[in-house]
Amino acid sequence: MSDLAGYRGYEPVIGLEVHCELDTVTKMFCGCPNSFGDAPNTNICPVCLALPGSLPVVNEMAVEFAARIGLALHCEVRPSIFHRKNYFYPDMPKDYQISQYDEPINVNGWLELPASGVRIGIERAHMEEDTGKTTHVGGGGRIHDSSFSLVDYNRAGVPLVEIVSRPDIRSSEQARQYVSELRMLLVSIGASKARMEEGSLRVDANVSVRPTGSGVLGTRCEIKNLNSLRSLVRAIEYEIERQVDLVSTGQVVVQQTRHWDEAGGRTIALRSKEEAHDYRYFPEPDLVRLDFDSDRVARIAGALPPTPEQRRARIISLFDAPTGTDLVATIVEMGLDVLVISAIEHGVVPERALSRTANEAAARVEDALNLDPGLYARLLMMEQEGKLTPTQTKAVLQAMMDSGGEPESIASTMGFEAMDSEVVADLVSGIVDANPDEWQRYRDGEGKLAQFFVGQVMKATRGKASGKEVIAALDRLKAGAK
Ligand code: ADP
Ligand code: MG
Ligand code: ZN
Repeated sequence: MSDLAGYRGYEPVIGLEVHCELDTVTKMFCGCPNSFGDAPNTNICPVCLALPGSLPVVNEMAVEFAARIGLALHCEVRPSIFHRKNYFYPDMPKDYQISQYDEPINVNGWLELPASGVRIGIERAHMEEDTGKTTHVGGGGRIHDSSFSLVDYNRAGVPLVEIVSRPDIRSSEQARQYVSELRMLLVSIGASKARMEEGSLRVDANVSVRPTGSGVLGTRCEIKNLNSLRSLVRAIEYEIERQVDLVSTGQVVVQQTRHWDEAGGRTIALRSKEEAHDYRYFPEPDLVRLDFDSDRVARIAGALPPTPEQRRARIISLFDAPTGTDLVATIVEMGLDVLVISAIEHGVVPERALSRTANEAAARVEDALNLDPGLYARLLMMEQEGKLTPTQTKAVLQAMMDSGGEPESIASTMGFEAMDSEVVADLVSGIVDANPDEWQRYRDGEGKLAQFFVGQVMKATRGKASGKEVIAALDRLKAGAK
């Protein structure tokens, strides 16, 4: 779609502003719980309601999470200050939002898109506080045709980081990849739950178009209300077409804030775009400067949990041969890489660790995420050592995902007793003695008779022996009998 013909000689230019709520225990400037889905107006206090005389105190964990985000995005993490961004809206009791303006904590980074390796510049990632939540009742759910509005201040003062990309994105597909990778990164470093459906990750898309090859930026529109990756892609596609229609017929794009109408599949003008001076920014007098020294940055960097990029690289490094990078990316995205790595570290062959995880564990991700990686590794080792057949392994895994427990005891409860190699070898030699004709033909090269012996052993053990083990015992006998 983003080829030249697709946009009639115009090139889309996109920059994204991503707001993420930090996964702290308490709010940004007070001790109220930062918790989603509680009864309205229960997590509030004089500070987040802006009652006279209340004063803010910065949440240290929020600052640490903000720094983690900056470091993971290869930003420079710097001393910073808070500003007041003044505007009136009923979901914001102070009538200003505490935000960062010209001295944000993180500047000048980048995020690499995993499929293509394209780097999207990060202009800044700054701290601010969230607003409350307004629900317009009656009419279409928008303020103008509603009969009344309800305000819930539980979200007021929840810590946010706004991550502002440079206008480096060139298609709706790249925008999707950017948000998807960023979402994974935020979860990976423990900074945010980053759930678009709960509003803990919110995206505004700035879109403009220009003649392909031009080095000058066109006039942009900013699209709000994108609450899924699907809406993001649809809204950007719609907006590109709308702007190309305008400029290719000699009209102009008016700089605007537009709303994505999900049901109508279109963007609608909300207001002309405000400028920074409209907000009368000034330094917040109730908060001191955050002096971020280099020791502190180094300590946070040293303890930074691995990014998705590092987690993918880690799995791939454990394979001798090149492996399916799509499969690895999916495993990391699901958070199941911990299982794969634990299994490999316990001695499971990488291919087996990856395929069991991609097939059996991935089919029940939520349950698989609760598995103890050490126990999971022990189960796959039991299979690898021939103590469990593949079918038995899958049955034990299902039981572990149903109700936990150790693989050895589940296997024995299920009657999958570990058949010791020597016991299997004894059984095999007994069966060989009892079937001299078949044994002779097998030794003479009739390979398919292996299945005959496996069948006999299975009958004798009611399926508890591993076929591989039986064949290994046959091979040993054959080598010795020569
Ligand atoms: P504001 O805070 O007013 O929205 P910013 O300067 O912070 O403005 O920019 C917001 C976003 O708009 C950034 O992600 C930036 O990359 C993007 N942007 C700026 N100019 C353009 C443009 N001409 N086309 C597309 N995106 C743009
Ligand atoms: Mg903006
Ligand atoms: Zn509070």
